[in-house]
Amino acid sequence: MPDPATTPLPDTDRLRARADACLRRCGAVPGPDAGDLVARTPITGGVLRRLASSTPEQVTEAVGAAHRAFGVWRTTPAPVRGALVKRLGELLAEHHEDLAELITLEAGKIRTEARGEVQEMVDVCDFAVGLSRQLYGRTMPSERPGHRLSESWHPLGVVGVVSAFNFPAAVWSWNTAIALVCGDAVVWKPSELTPLTSMACAALLSEAAADVGAPTDVHRLVLGHRAVGEVLVADPRVALVSATGSVRMGREIGPRVAARFGRCLLELGGNNAVIVTPSADPDLAVRGIVFAAAGTAGQRCTTLRRVIVHEDIADVLVERLIRAYAELGIGDPFAETTLVGPLIRAASGEAMAAALDRARADGGDVLVGGERVPRPEAPDAVYVRPAIVRMPGQTEIVREETFAPILYLLTYRTFDQAIALNNGVPHGLSSGVFTRDHREAERFLAADGSDCGIANVNIGTSGAEIGGAFGGEKETGGGRESGSDAWRAYMRRATNTINYSDELPLAQGVDFG
Ligand code: NAD
Repeated sequence: MPDPATTPLPDTDRLRARADACLRRCGAVPGPDAGDLVARTPITGGVLRRLASSTPEQVTEAVGAAHRAFGVWRTTPAPVRGALVKRLGELLAEHHEDLAELITLEAGKIRTEARGEVQEMVDVCDFAVGLSRQLYGRTMPSERPGHRLSESWHPLGVVGVVSAFNFPAAVWSWNTAIALVCGDAVVWKPSELTPLTSMACAALLSEAAADVGAPTDVHRLVLGHRAVGEVLVADPRVALVSATGSVRMGREIGPRVAARFGRCLLELGGNNAVIVTPSADPDLAVRGIVFAAAGTAGQRCTTLRRVIVHEDIADVLVERLIRAYAELGIGDPFAETTLVGPLIRAASGEAMAAALDRARADGGDVLVGGERVPRPEAPDAVYVRPAIVRMPGQTEIVREETFAPILYLLTYRTFDQAIALNNGVPHGLSSGVFTRDHREAERFLAADGSDCGIANVNIGTSGAEIGGAFGGEKETGGGRESGSDAWRAYMRRATNTINYSDELPLAQGVDFG
């Protein structure tokens, strides 16, 4: 099989033509190829298109239009709102290949992962359509005779969605499909690194709205760097800010939204671990670890960054991991044999090199990888060999999230130590244990086990299904998106007490004459 590390990369002109064709087929009209916002492809580092960022006035206008559309949308029956999301799901499925291609072009994901991201969008639309008939409120027993106590869930308002480069489409769909059936309007500020994918998604949603007669302004797209996001999150008409990105971004947005008593749903960084115990199925563990650590070139929030392995089996596991890493095809994400595509930008390569230097200074031993894969024909592209570093302990660099494929290996003696290491980082997103010992599995999932929002058994840390609520604790931000009852974050709750008697008894037996 050809080695993608030595197969020539496609040239940027061809990639640009492919991006343009995908945009056109999705009904997105990009306008003149000029402006301050530069859409690049990490495959070559070349420019796909130049665009104009939204001005502050345009952001304010978009929020105003969405707010007006919300006035109509909130009283549209939820199952009718579901019809919009159903149509969106159909259009996303029809344009599966175009969207996957744009994701590969802009985010550098290999084909199967890009297609999986589109499938996730289709799946969440299906989920949201079903949900549109299940936005249940409860009825509680009233303590007063002739009274009924219940709660109802109402649309919240405009949801500002701020998203990261590494899931340029799926994170939008998790938020948007659910928000729309909940009766909210959405203004989306995608990553400045992936504007074209967002334009295609937004065009398909506009088409869906036209097809079912929904107000077009229930969804608006604004483009640009963080300054554009700052205007969006500051607007008091944005009732909920759902922001996905780095902890640094969450630290900035969280207090600003709180200061105006807005709601925030934060999906921030992760530093995810798996524990490998002596009873683990070694084949399962190796496959799970390699996909979670090297997949998406280490650029998922759920990427596996730490393996915590029992000291008795560490050498055997290391040997198998090194062998598996040697077989990873690294190169053009469009190539069939590639498993690891490019890093998103030069700064990611620099961050990886700096982290490896710090790990070495802490006594870490780089067992494999870490070096650049030279691509003389595309000097601006960054291809790296995923690294495994054996560490003497959980030092400061291990406790940080470096958004690149570095897997730190730590050893443990007792299961309590392993859990302490798993939890001993500021983040709390995803975690897993590979074990065939039922007691260890249950302990890991128990209240004093993993402190993460996602805790798996015999599965790696990445690749969540849309049916569950997705998100994490501590510096990951505490938000939950997608499945289960995550919809509640997109609605407001009203508690209703109805007196159908002729008396006016007060609660708690209060007598007021
Ligand atoms: P980033 O924080 O640089 O940017 C994310 C988005 O926030 C972008 O759209 C950016 O323009 C915007 N932004 C940044 N600062 C802002 C501010 N002050 N006000 C308003 N908007 C602002 O993140 P990135 O490099 O695109 O993505 C990688 C990070 O995202 C990693 O830390 C990763 O773990 C995290 N991530 C988390 C999840 C999750 O669900 N928990 C999912 C994907 C990515």
